[in-house]
Amino acid sequence: MNFNAPERVDAWIDGAAAEHDGTLLPIVNPATAQIVSQLVESDATVVDAAVRSAAATFARGSWRKTPVESRAAVLRRVADLIEQNAAELAWLECLASGIPMQHLRLGQIPRAAQNFRFFAEVINQQSGQLWNQNPKLLTYVTREPIGVAALLGPWNAPLALTSMKIAAAIAFGNSCVAKPSEVTPLAVARLMVLLREAGLPDGVVNLVNGRGPITGAALVAHPQIDLVSFTGGTTTGRAISEAAGRGLKPLSLELGGKSACIVFDSADLDRALDGALTGIFSNNGQQCLAGSRILLQSGIAERFLERFVERAKALRIGDPMQPDTQIGPLAFEGHLERVLGYVDVARADGCKLLAGGRRVDALRPGCYFEPTVVLAPSNAARVCREEIFGPFATFQIFDTAEQAVAIANDSDFGLVAYVWSDHLPTVQQCTRGIRAGVVWVNTPMARELRAPFGGVKDSGYGREGGLSSMQFYTFEKTISLAQGDVSP
Ligand code: NAD
Repeated sequence: MNFNAPERVDAWIDGAAAEHDGTLLPIVNPATAQIVSQLVESDATVVDAAVRSAAATFARGSWRKTPVESRAAVLRRVADLIEQNAAELAWLECLASGIPMQHLRLGQIPRAAQNFRFFAEVINQQSGQLWNQNPKLLTYVTREPIGVAALLGPWNAPLALTSMKIAAAIAFGNSCVAKPSEVTPLAVARLMVLLREAGLPDGVVNLVNGRGPITGAALVAHPQIDLVSFTGGTTTGRAISEAAGRGLKPLSLELGGKSACIVFDSADLDRALDGALTGIFSNNGQQCLAGSRILLQSGIAERFLERFVERAKALRIGDPMQPDTQIGPLAFEGHLERVLGYVDVARADGCKLLAGGRRVDALRPGCYFEPTVVLAPSNAARVCREEIFGPFATFQIFDTAEQAVAIANDSDFGLVAYVWSDHLPTVQQCTRGIRAGVVWVNTPMARELRAPFGGVKDSGYGREGGLSSMQFYTFEKTISLAQGDVSP
């Protein structure tokens, strides 16, 4: 594929690249450790210019007052343009993140297009409430955009996740300033050009780039930011929550996970095996919703584990640009070192290493890590408690559904859970008992955009999805209209 990375990635303000001086941060291809581009960090002055552009656009109303059919048409054109440019977007994303091309082409890039098409439909169907029980008063509720949204995203699904926030925010008439991860800004930067091409007025979506404590912190704290949507790590989420709290800004936090994947004796074991492998190894294991704690019922445990290890060892590791690669490099060197560190942690806690556990030396200086499988003595092992965010599966064995639910809930996190069983009472015992924002039954991750998505506990709060996004990105205005004389 003949695509080129831009020489530098600048902020995008008022519908154009905003060339400015600033600290240059290298963008590194984790498959080769080569620098492929430079990011110009947006400092507080650049962030201020981006927020002011969004605020001025919002105040003018050139987008929020546009009839809903026209707004929906722009969103659909964005979706079309993402699809037309899918090969380039996937290439840019792969270059900076190491996410395997097949996952990008079949999953993340189509999902980015779907985000815009989905919200075009949602706004076409949106309606308010009305009360007319009191004959003297007609009371109705309208929903209005909140203003300027700060949208901060992580590096593990940069375009798919940041585009969900952008699509939702602008669909309901808000303006916004997006800040993708400084590690993976390339595809999101390209999206800015496509938004303009689709006819979105300048200033509705602005982009700033840079490190969290510099660019991200300046954005969240900016007085003209009216709400904040954040997807990323739990520690960052706490810092953002404090900053947003000071400004009383509505906040949605999609944070980390350590989700249980429970396989019962009563499961369709072939499907459960495929699902458990996908749950922990897709996207190089770098997924908030990874099924990283696999719990096996004792009757099937030994054979299931054997088959899982065999399949994990057979995964094709290599150049993420190749269409048949299943595991690419981890996103950057520092992250690889962190994930590697958990191999020693696992050993120290008495876990049995069944597969992987090493850097792939033959692919140095690429950041490759072998798909790793450990059997943990109990849920107390640190590898069962902390989010590793890599292709690192932990196994535990249980006897009863009560035990499985108790282990699933024995976690600081509560994002998702996977249940594999064909026995309905067992399934229902789990869906009722598990404390997580989403429970998937007999399916690998299956994000339903119409339904709420989000976590509990350290996995954050707030929900994304059709109605949930509408509630977050709009406020309700109640209007009471006298019907004739209302004096008592
Ligand atoms: P991160 O928290 O380090 O960074 C996320 C974003 O926040 C980046 O853009 C970063 O620059 C910015 N940031 C960092 N510090 C900041 C600060 N003080 N103020 C403002 N912004 C700041 O997360 P990451 O390492 O990029 O992503 C991995 C994490 O994201 C994992 O924990 C993963 O579970 C989580 N995640 C959650 C979901 C979900 O939907 N729940 C989805 C994907 C990833």
